[in-house]
Amino acid sequence: MSFEKLGLSAELLRAVADQGYTTPTPVQAQSIPTILDGHDVLAGAQTGTGKTAGFTLPMLNIMQKNHPERGRKKPIRALVLTPTRELAAQVAESVATYGKYTPIRSTVVFGGVGINPQIQKLRRGIDILVATPGRLLDLANQREVDLSQIEFFVLDEADRMLDMGFIHDIRRVLKLLPAKRQNLLFSATFSEEIKRLAQGFLKNPVYVEVARNETSHQVTQVVHPVSKAKKRALLSKLISEGEWQQVLVFTKTKHGANRLTKQLESDGIGAAAIHGNKSQTARTKALAGFKAGSIRVLVATDIAARGLDIDQLPHVVNYELPNVPEDYVHRIGRTGRAGNTGEAMSLVSSDEDKLLYGIERLIKKAIPKVSVEGFEPDPEDIKVAQKEAQEQKQRRSSHQRRRSPNSNRKPGQGRTKASGNRSRSR
Ligand code: AMP
Repeated sequence: MSFEKLGLSAELLRAVADQGYTTPTPVQAQSIPTILDGHDVLAGAQTGTGKTAGFTLPMLNIMQKNHPERGRKKPIRALVLTPTRELAAQVAESVATYGKYTPIRSTVVFGGVGINPQIQKLRRGIDILVATPGRLLDLANQREVDLSQIEFFVLDEADRMLDMGFIHDIRRVLKLLPAKRQNLLFSATFSEEIKRLAQGFLKNPVYVEVARNETSHQVTQVVHPVSKAKKRALLSKLISEGEWQQVLVFTKTKHGANRLTKQLESDGIGAAAIHGNKSQTARTKALAGFKAGSIRVLVATDIAARGLDIDQLPHVVNYELPNVPEDYVHRIGRTGRAGNTGEAMSLVSSDEDKLLYGIERLIKKAIPKVSVEGFEPDPEDIKVAQKEAQEQKQRRSSHQRRRSPNSNRKPGQGRTKASGNRSRSR
């Protein structure tokens, strides 16, 4: 399969060739012809699969064909909604890159930065708008954005949108769109909530699925069981001895990210934190430093890391496992992108065993465990964790017995649907 066979214009093929892409990724091979045919698309594809080009190239192709003459004020024809500022910036950059030989103009709007420069750009007229929901609605309320002529609506990383509580904003945005339009929804995971949302606005969508809830095969995964107190020393050792030059490290909390960054710096390892409490300028600066190689370790929380596109990122470390197993899939999707190999390492202390089990169940495989000499979990910690797990199990079963009047029910009888739903909910 080649890009030429997908029916894209010469201008787009030239831009793709400039990027050095030779073959479409699976999501591109499936979504480009489907979108060109005018269908709505429901795509199960995470970041790192090439999905941005998968929706941008066919949109540009169609828009290029019936582009209004020069001089007329252009209505906005395509809206791409993303959950985070970083992803919005990233997608906008891709739209500009792929559309550089076309007359299609695009811009990006997100919060945390001045609104006036964004208004100026919008007033000049653009074809494609990439936006985060809050700032978009602000601009719409100020009548600086008119979405009534939208031909394409893309909801990118829809699962993360819902995780971040954007469902009401999405519904508000949908009300501003015309009834006739092409809809494209991308999501790495599919909860019942996502399915409901998709049913609400997609019309006879074609389903494109690429490795849903599966981790990339290009990524080598390993778990290092470790005593909680020794995590930081182990991380420093792995980075120094492995001579890793570019590492993305995940922590659960903003505070944890700050603390770890300081500790790594005191170990002589250049690090910066990126999370929701940092200003947009600080985040952009940290990311630029990391990409350029002046910052060796970027310590991030899940939300901040969403949308980071760093070419050929070789190492991702889970300093702490995420509470939500799907986040593990997103995290390690930062490495092994677009055909490159990568390494994802998780430092797991005994109190995180349950989270690890949840992740392995989701990805349907056991992750190899490799102890590092001198950093093994403290036997006392293991005992405490086992005791806690046992107590939790007992609490759960006595709670269930109290709730269920018919405790003699045989396994598999009744209530299975409800309990199944509960185990999937977050
Ligand atoms: P995305 O999933 O859209 O964030 O893309 C992930 C990465 O893959 C980006 O760095 C793209 O530049 C790159 N990429 C996209 N399409 C291709 C392709 N066909 N061949 C090689 N790399 C690609």
